[in-house]
Amino acid sequence: MRAVVKVDTRPGPEGTVVREMPLPVPGAGEVRLRVRAAAICGSDRHIWHWDPSVRHLVRPPRIYGHEFCGEVDELGPDAGRADLGPGDYVSAEMHVVCGTCRQCRAGQGHICKNTRILGFHDDGSFAEFLVVPAANVIRLDPGVVPLKVGAFLDALGNAVHTVQDHDLVGARVAVMGYGPIGAMAAAIAHHQGAERIYVLDVSPQAIEQAEAWRVRKGAGSVTVLETGGDHTSDVDELILDETEGGVDLVLEMSGAESAINQGLRIARMGGTLSMLGIPGREAITIEDFARDFIFKGLTLQAIIGRRMFSTWELMLELLADGLDVAPLVSHEYESLDAFEEGMRAFDAHEALKVVFYPHGNGASVDTPSGGE
Ligand code: ZN
Repeated sequence: MRAVVKVDTRPGPEGTVVREMPLPVPGAGEVRLRVRAAAICGSDRHIWHWDPSVRHLVRPPRIYGHEFCGEVDELGPDAGRADLGPGDYVSAEMHVVCGTCRQCRAGQGHICKNTRILGFHDDGSFAEFLVVPAANVIRLDPGVVPLKVGAFLDALGNAVHTVQDHDLVGARVAVMGYGPIGAMAAAIAHHQGAERIYVLDVSPQAIEQAEAWRVRKGAGSVTVLETGGDHTSDVDELILDETEGGVDLVLEMSGAESAINQGLRIARMGGTLSMLGIPGREAITIEDFARDFIFKGLTLQAIIGRRMFSTWELMLELLADGLDVAPLVSHEYESLDAFEEGMRAFDAHEALKVVFYPHGNGASVDTPSGGE
């Protein structure tokens, strides 16, 4: 089968090669899936560049990729999933958890201390086929999830997880960073009935993309604001003024120190920062810890992965209810052989989501019929 393989530690196209790999065989409790669509995640870009943040997770050679959808190809022995059969349209949670640590036993598998991630620790989904634990397979409704959206449910799940604990109806929300997951979070907040949504970014290109979304949705509740540098204090002032004291919920998607500090400043007293963005460095500095955090009685919530499997359930309900994220996909390729081209578009921020159809015939076919 064709697969995208991180062959060695060299960055860029030298260290990532599209080549033939053996067809994986499902072992006990596993399922082999035929990958219909797979999307590039920001962390795949780190693997492509071999950035320090991923080096401890990936040991080449490794097939990477972890956002995908596909069809059941073959159930291994004792798969224990009577509800699955060949041809069924599915995705899978790519965090493989132990089931026995304290967190897992308390129903918090997303923070399992023994988590292994397919596409990092083990082979992933930039391939024609992959093998996953049967328990991780998620059934999809082809009438609800088109292939191009099924391709990035892993990332959409991250965005859903950031808002999962919050009632967004009538809420005032700020989204810090309009990258792919920020764009999804803004779409979710809008879909869920937030009263005001502020989208902040420092990049004029991201501001343009956010503005295009706002105009397309005709969303009067959305304000797109370029922040950073000279803009920062004006943005603070505008939001604090319009909301009479700050937003209820900050969705921090950027990981930038300046955005985290701005998020603390524009949150209302008693507000929450739901934080998914990962800083480039280990340490960040909070500019005024007492004024901006303690005395405001804020809550900081760290978001990792997707809750198993309540986040998936909520995400599929939102999609069935009309949450529209398909327009985030701007680049589609009918083969994994175009991986370098797709990665370059993603890397240059020309595309929020890039999707590959490893068996071709993706963009022209909506979803698998299933059950054949
Ligand atoms: Zn565990």
